[in-house]
Amino acid sequence: MTLEDLGYRAEMETFRRDSDLGSFGVGRVISEHKERYIVRSAKDEYEAEIVGSLRFSAHERSDFPAVGDWVAISEYDDGKALIHAVFPRKSLIERQAVGKYGEKQVIATNIDYALIVQAVDRDFNINRIERYLTICYVSDINPVIILNKIDLIDESALAEIMHAVRKRIPQVPVVAVSNASGSGIETLASGLEKGKTYCMLGSSGVGKSTLINNLSGNRLMETGQISASTQKGRHITSHRELFLLDQGGILIDNPGMREVGITDSAGGLDRTFGAILELSGQCRYTDCTHMTEAGCAVIEALDRGELDPLAYENYVKMEREKEHFEATVAERRKKDRDFGKMVKNFKKGRNHNNY
Ligand code: GDP
Ligand code: ZN
Repeated sequence: MTLEDLGYRAEMETFRRDSDLGSFGVGRVISEHKERYIVRSAKDEYEAEIVGSLRFSAHERSDFPAVGDWVAISEYDDGKALIHAVFPRKSLIERQAVGKYGEKQVIATNIDYALIVQAVDRDFNINRIERYLTICYVSDINPVIILNKIDLIDESALAEIMHAVRKRIPQVPVVAVSNASGSGIETLASGLEKGKTYCMLGSSGVGKSTLINNLSGNRLMETGQISASTQKGRHITSHRELFLLDQGGILIDNPGMREVGITDSAGGLDRTFGAILELSGQCRYTDCTHMTEAGCAVIEALDRGELDPLAYENYVKMEREKEHFEATVAERRKKDRDFGKMVKNFKKGRNHNNY
């Protein structure tokens, strides 16, 4: 295997040289668990930890390595390595950290394409595709729409769905497939590019795991488990979260990826609703919310029938959710601050009273 097979590119090598990292090895993080990493280099796989200096210079959690990262490593023992630096990221997918308002958790990095999977059965829903699109745009990832389970509907129903998707989301490629019949799988597979990194987004049950198995020749799950014993005889088992697909291409799939939601993607709305963004340039007010304002080009286009009312409706709904989410975060942060002050004052009080 070469580093290029793993997605390494010229600009990363340039960074390595320019940053005096030339004496270190290079690898890609293929799994992470509680600050223990599995790093894959061209010829080996390492159990790795970060060096102290990297830990101390890390300001926030996102400064730590994540699955998909390129890292500078040094081998210190058979199969063991230290991580000295994290290369700049081309893209970053993150979500709200559990239980910590306002803190983000990095799920994966350096992803080129997201396959947004949706089944065409009764759960089919264009609004939901738009939701995943915003995640892609806010993360700098190129979207591809995969319509799965086409074995469950007839040709005319599929044609109708394809038409609706293309009309509403004209800028994104659409591939129709069926894991059950195999239809479209070859087309999808042949479109995957060697050295590019992919992930899958979509609700539970749409067929992502089955599709991953189909694209990786069913060998994936068998080889997915790796285990390595640590010096103390303790046994850690880790799951590979980044792997090569048969046709070339790299796939990142981890539990966090399955839980990204719209609230994590404030800011991606504009690009998802391109037509609205375009029109907004002609609104009378630069901070127009396109909901009630006079001279709003979006509302005018809607009235003239030039804007899909369903797309507009979904935009408004997501915009409101985003605002609600941001307000909640702000409120929680304020509460945390107030609580912090209270604790401080309490401690001060204790000192005064010489408890
Ligand atoms: P995930 O939750 O997105 O990973 O979905 P799974 O891959 O676990 O699939 C959910 C269910 O849908 C399973 O019962 C699969 O067998 C089924 N499934 C997956 N792909 C297809 C398909 O193309 N056609 C049909 N009819 N069922 C499928
Ligand atoms: Zn407007």
